[in-house]
Amino acid sequence: MTKKDLGFNPKPLYNVGQQEFKMAPRGRPWVDTPDELWNSWIWQQQNRVRRMDHLEACVDVTQEERDAFDKSSELFNMAVTPYYASLMDPLNPDCPIRLQSVPKMGELTIAPGEMEDPLGEETDMPVPGITHRYPDRVLFYTTHHCPVFCRHCTRKRKVADPSSAAQKQQIEEGIAYIKRTPSIRDVVISGGDPLSNSDERLDYIMGSLRAIPHVEVFRLGTRNLVTLPHRITDDFVRIIKKHAPMYVHTHFNHPLECTAEAFEACLKIAEAGIPINNQMVLLKGVNEEPELVKKLNHMLLMMRVRPYYIFQCDMSQGISHFRTPISTGLNIIEHLRGHTSGMAVPHFVVDAPGGGGKIPLLPEYVKSHVGNRWVLRNYKNKEYIYED
Ligand SMILES: *Cc1c(COP(=O)(O)O)cnc(C)c1O
Ligand code: SF4
Repeated sequence: MTKKDLGFNPKPLYNVGQQEFKMAPRGRPWVDTPDELWNSWIWQQQNRVRRMDHLEACVDVTQEERDAFDKSSELFNMAVTPYYASLMDPLNPDCPIRLQSVPKMGELTIAPGEMEDPLGEETDMPVPGITHRYPDRVLFYTTHHCPVFCRHCTRKRKVADPSSAAQKQQIEEGIAYIKRTPSIRDVVISGGDPLSNSDERLDYIMGSLRAIPHVEVFRLGTRNLVTLPHRITDDFVRIIKKHAPMYVHTHFNHPLECTAEAFEACLKIAEAGIPINNQMVLLKGVNEEPELVKKLNHMLLMMRVRPYYIFQCDMSQGISHFRTPISTGLNIIEHLRGHTSGMAVPHFVVDAPGGGGKIPLLPEYVKSHVGNRWVLRNYKNKEYIYED
């Protein structure tokens, strides 16, 4: 192990007020793994749970999981970092971490209306690797690799498919497109997970974007804070700091993911002056309950992460077992707005099938509106009149 890999040494416990952020327990196979290995993101990558015998070593596998594993492996295989696998409940197949990372039979069902590219990301593609849908910002795909293959992933068809990996050539073409398109002022560096790129390549990509006069800000869209926080090494933090102003957008879905390791990773990024936003995906059996989302958002704020979006599960194939009705998201917002800090209230959005983009939805706060007379209601359902 080279010295360079060891820029991550989490404290065992972080406290904010009465809230404790504890280190992830070690899953069964890794009880005796030395800390130097465990804290190396390269070791975590190399020792991912990919096969059935790996999974059997960490949890009591059910027959359903076994069948789903066999049948889904060609479509979208399994990969879980030892760190994230250690957050699984070995005895409970419905554990929210396990639901997000171990295949289930529901993946094999393609429900009516589900599509391969529900967001039309390939139709708004001026060059391979760029989705340009909104006037002033683009998505830029820089890799198709991720440390954990989330079972609810929208980009299943691309993630984990080595033949579709963004090559150096594609990155060059993406940068060239951004350079010759002056309307772009915000670039979402995406994937897969851009942190699967080497530090050198990330430095190159961000440096190239920073050199384009009309690019004001960019974001790194990464789930490494959740699935592989060890990736946030001192070297990595030095690189992102150099290219600021930038933002990190991440994807926490459940309070169990708020560990001391995740806290440490967020702290390092925040101390570099880089704000972090969270994009939660609403998933049946994982985070439908308003109280749970409130708890998650409170923990995120303590980790210096601002809740930004709650996404309605989109119309990707094989995720109907995760999809909740729209009313679930509205109910969550209803229970947050007014009842807790506005900072803990993200936007609930539906990414419209067919490439319509993100559409925000709110509970109805206007009771009636006639002429200049507005009848509004507050979070306690009391009515108030506002005259224009
Ligand atoms: C989500 C998304 C963005 C960024 O949207 P914001 O609302 O600015 O966070 C940009 N381009 C595409 C294609 C997207 O799907
Ligand atoms: S990290 Fe994001 S892109 Fe990667 S598998 Fe998970 S949801 Fe998909």
